Amino acid sequence: MIWYPYQQMKTMKPPYEIIDAKGVYLYTKDRQLIDSVSSWWSVIHGYKHPVLTEAIKNQADNFSHVMLGGLTHKPVQKLSAKLEQWLPGDLDYCFFSDSGSVAVEVALKMALQFYVNRGERREKVLALNHAYHGDTFKAMEVGDDEDYHFAFQEKKGVYHIPTEIPALEEAFLKYHKELNCLIVEPLLQGAGGMLMYDMAFLKRARELCDAYDVLLIFDEVATGFGRTGYRFVADEVLPDILVLGKALTGGYIGHAVTVANHKVYGGFYGDDPGMAFMHGPTFMGNALAAAVALKSIELFEEGNYLKKIQRITEITKRELKGFESPKVKEIRIMGGCVCLEVKEEKTIEGYQRFAYERGVFSRPFLKYMYAMVPYVIEEEQLVKVISTMKEWLS
Ligand SMILES: *Cc1c(COP(=O)(O)O)cnc(C)c1O
Repeated sequence: MIWYPYQQMKTMKPPYEIIDAKGVYLYTKDRQLIDSVSSWWSVIHGYKHPVLTEAIKNQADNFSHVMLGGLTHKPVQKLSAKLEQWLPGDLDYCFFSDSGSVAVEVALKMALQFYVNRGERREKVLALNHAYHGDTFKAMEVGDDEDYHFAFQEKKGVYHIPTEIPALEEAFLKYHKELNCLIVEPLLQGAGGMLMYDMAFLKRARELCDAYDVLLIFDEVATGFGRTGYRFVADEVLPDILVLGKALTGGYIGHAVTVANHKVYGGFYGDDPGMAFMHGPTFMGNALAAAVALKSIELFEEGNYLKKIQRITEITKRELKGFESPKVKEIRIMGGCVCLEVKEEKTIEGYQRFAYERGVFSRPFLKYMYAMVPYVIEEEQLVKVISTMKEWLS
């Protein structure tokens, strides 16, 4: 049987069975549902996009996978060339992997070994309170969310700080000799509760990382590809390592990439085999994933997506203007993300069913009702997503 994620299997409600999906819609046997979650924030172009489906079919007719150990191929070459040209600054060196968590592990290993290769041991990572970086062990350790990881308390290799500049400065002053990197979800902390913070924090982080020679890692697995309203937050503040996942393939197939800048890559480059980066997921650079990711990026570029996302922000703000409910603690809106944080968890009980009856798929968690819609959503569909939340809370 299937063991479902984040669920007590004994009390889990049966999941909705999806038999078809197109555009922003999921179809069950008897319902058409607007997907307000974009399948964990990944399906930015909507389901069954003809261009993406064709890309993956064409590649499957050619070959679906060959390993990158000793082999290479056009789809992965084209994707890495595209990323090199498309991503900001000198984020040019693409290490592919099969999921966001693994790509975060790769980034953290790179940061640690970068200093080992220089003959320094810097064991510690600086990270943010409420961070979420994935469910593998090191990613969990730099994460900070009891609700996900309460069973695994060991946190020896990491210092956590709030998203406040004084705390950041203090941490650098105190710990800089031990730190190999600072890792953040820039501007928007997703799984930690759609928490939003200021660009000024990131600018100061960049300055401090430069001043103390500490690597800056942006985990843009969730925020990348426009979710914050910026194409990448890395366009505004340049990290040393950028991690992308989720929307990388338009939500078609699991894949992720850890992109290093020239400085990081240079720290591994040389005649000594012992300085090489020892990591290699079996399915890294998978040809189906690479082919569909390349097309997804082209759609993003050609379709003027930042404009689409801006429209989503405007409609969301308009629909929530003046909305008040005694049950709501705070409303947060950024780019293609809206979160209504409620005061008590029990407020959310029953909402998923309520939304389902009204033709919206939603997956609230803890105290957070939220929407991260596919960017191709129509105005009336988005209005429906938001009005369903308002109706529940009124
Ligand atoms: C989802 C997520 C991950 C983990 O990605 P997976 O593909 O689920 O392993 C890592 N970091 C952030 C910020 C995420 O939102």
